[in-house]
Amino acid sequence: MHKPRKRFGQHFLHDQNVIRRIILAIAPKSGEHLIEIGPGQGALTFPILKMAGQLDVVEIDRDLVADLQTHATVDGRLIVHQQDALAFDFAKLAEPAKPLRIFGNLPYNISTPMIFHLLKFSAVIADMVFMLQKEVVDRIASDAGGDNYGRLSVMVQYHCRVEALFDVSPDSFDPPPKVNSSVMRLIPYPAIPFVAKDYLNFYNLVKQAFSQRRKTLRNSLRGMLSETDWQELKMNSQARPEELTVEDFVKLSNRM
Ligand code: SAM
Repeated sequence: MHKPRKRFGQHFLHDQNVIRRIILAIAPKSGEHLIEIGPGQGALTFPILKMAGQLDVVEIDRDLVADLQTHATVDGRLIVHQQDALAFDFAKLAEPAKPLRIFGNLPYNISTPMIFHLLKFSAVIADMVFMLQKEVVDRIASDAGGDNYGRLSVMVQYHCRVEALFDVSPDSFDPPPKVNSSVMRLIPYPAIPFVAKDYLNFYNLVKQAFSQRRKTLRNSLRGMLSETDWQELKMNSQARPEELTVEDFVKLSNRM
């Protein structure tokens, strides 16, 4: 019997209704290239393997990997990568004309860096379905002006269309986490709607703007943009970062 490890954020799904809803949201089909992050004891892994016939999984915990390996050929072809998903090169699994479909009940302690890591591979990803803390899903899905709108919303929405799907209560897991969870879908845009000419500029500008949320943008972005820049863009330098849309941030960074 595996003892859940706190350091790996292990909360195993046991609620069959929630498992069914997540699988319905993923809707795996035979021939698709599916990848699961953190398969754990296989709550999602085995039903999806059966439907898809083949599945890559990335799991850090050696003991869980050993258990998964013993099932590797029972229901289809399970390819187990014993690795830290934060350092995993998802591009190496990409094949021409077969974009990746990534899913998982993500370890909550690494969910934000995991999303940032995955955004680097958006060009080879068709979609992602993840369970995360509800609070993180609320931040990712928030529109400009909303209380939860911040750097994470802007950076994810730059690359992806976001759909918050449904909430999941702690008693669906063993052991139960302290927070509520939520399932969301991210669909990378085949063509990014507002393109930053220099992505690093855009990344740094958004980071800087939200590092001092209460300051006006004029103050927090001093040194990056002049008063003339604001005037010529016809944008309000007295605004706070949460008032700007992704398109606004792109406009500002393209002006830098
Ligand atoms: N998918 C299973 C389920 O729904 O019951 C387990 C989910 S559990 C919340 C998170 C899983 O991610 C665990 O199996 C854990 O060992 C694994 N994990 C934690 N950190 C990881 C990392 N950096 N890279 C890959 N897997 C990781």
